[in-house]
Formats: sequence, structure tokens, C-alpha cells
Amino acid sequence: MHTDILKKDKDPMGAAIADFHRLGKAGRLRLFSSQFDEDEMPVKELFRTFGQMPALERTALRLASGRILDVGAGSGCHSLALQDMGKEVCAIDISPLSVEVMRERGVRDARLANLFQPGFAERFDTVLMLMNGSGIIGRIENMPAFFDRMKQLLKPGGSVLMDSSDLSYLFEEEDGSISIDLADDYYGQVDFYMRYKDILGDSFDWLYVDFDTLSLYASSCGFRAELVEEGEHFNYLARLSLAF
Ligand code: SAH
Repeated sequence: MHTDILKKDKDPMGAAIADFHRLGKAGRLRLFSSQFDEDEMPVKELFRTFGQMPALERTALRLASGRILDVGAGSGCHSLALQDMGKEVCAIDISPLSVEVMRERGVRDARLANLFQPGFAERFDTVLMLMNGSGIIGRIENMPAFFDRMKQLLKPGGSVLMDSSDLSYLFEEEDGSISIDLADDYYGQVDFYMRYKDILGDSFDWLYVDFDTLSLYASSCGFRAELVEEGEHFNYLARLSLAF
């Protein structure tokens, strides 16, 4: 769970987003992890339009209703699509450069804010968390704190629309069995850091959570989890609503 707003000199993704916005192209946004090989995040994909979005994200945007909070909004791609659909959205991000770009791109209500900042105290009908939106929760033990936060942010009858992936396929043996050591930490917890040009970000925790585990935490925290749609790569869209 990030607890702070990023500093501009520690915000590689924001710098890549700002370059792409201003120049129409960006350098390599490199992704490192102690668990995986080096990877790259295609910056252009952070600027996807409604038509370029995966089906699961389009479903989430269609289902989003009332006053919407776009959490970790990045370049503002989902907020802009929601505005085009005539919906009311507030976009938040901890990246100052991304928030500047969102404003320049026409996101009407873009704020530099952390989801977990108690000072951010408004209520929404839909909380949208997309592009492995569960990542922001960071670690599995943060689940109760996350659901408490959702109770503060949701209006009565409101819900969270979140996508995630089940990483168990990474532990699949040749015979199709899954070998996960249950004594280890939950297998969906990944640490990452990013680099763009000479801007190096701090390391952060990012949570991938399978639907069953998410449902268990949801029900123990007074929420109901519904599997809305499954994606093409072990990913899914869930709706989390307060159980009555
Ligand atoms: N939703 C966007 C961007 C996803 S990348 C898209 O689908 O393209 C994740 C974003 O979440 C980054 O921009 C990061 O700065 C932001 N973020 C991470 N932790 C956050 C937090 N606690 N509160 C708000 N935003 C956060």
C-alpha cells in the first residue's frame, strides 16, 4: 500500500506518461521485480481509448454508475471514456506528473490524492480500480484495511469494480498440477520498481489476488464479491458490494 504522494524525481511512470502526452512518444518504461525477469510497460497502452480497451475494462466502464472514483487513474484513459459516456467521475493518483497530464487531457476532476489518505473523505457510488486494480492493496494482509476504506468511501448501495489476475498459472508443473508452498507468503504478492530514463522509482508491493481469496476476505469484511467477467489471461472483473 503506497502511503505517500510521489515526488516528481521518483515518479518514472508519470515521467513516461508526460513524455508520451507532450511528444507523442516515450522511451522505455522498465519494470523490475525480485520475482520476475525485467519487463517493459508499453507506455502507449496507458493511453488506450475505449475501443482499444480489453472487453473486461469496457464492461467495467459500462457498469460504473452514479458518482465514480477512478483510483490510480494514470493518464486518465478510463476517466476520459467515462466523461464521453456522460458519467460523473473523480480521478485520483499519487503521481503528480500523471495528474498534470490528466488535467491537460481534459479530465475535469483530477486530484493528486492517495486512496488511503484519510483526508480524502468523499463518497461515491462506484469505486473503479482497473489494470490489475487490486495491485494498489499491496499485500494480502492489507485486505481488511482496504475493505474498511471502501466502507468509508462508498455510498449506501455502492460497489467497487476491480480487476485482478490469478497468478497460480505461473506455478504450474508440466503435468498441469500447481505447486504452491502454502507455508510461503500468498503467491500473488509481487514487489516492483520502475525506471524511466534516469528516473528510478522506489520499490512497491503489488497484489494479484485470485477470485476465491478475494471473496473470502470480502465476506469476512462484510462485503459480497461477484465474478462479473473472466478475461483471456487468468484475469477477471469483480464487483464488491456491502452485504446487508
Ligand atoms: N488505471 C490506469 C493506470 C494503472 S497504473 C490504467 O489502467 O491505465 C497504477 C496507477 O496507480 C499509477 O498511476 C500509480 O501512480 C497509481 N497509484 C498507486 N497507488 C496509489 C494509491 N494508493 N492511491 C492512488 N493512486 C495510486
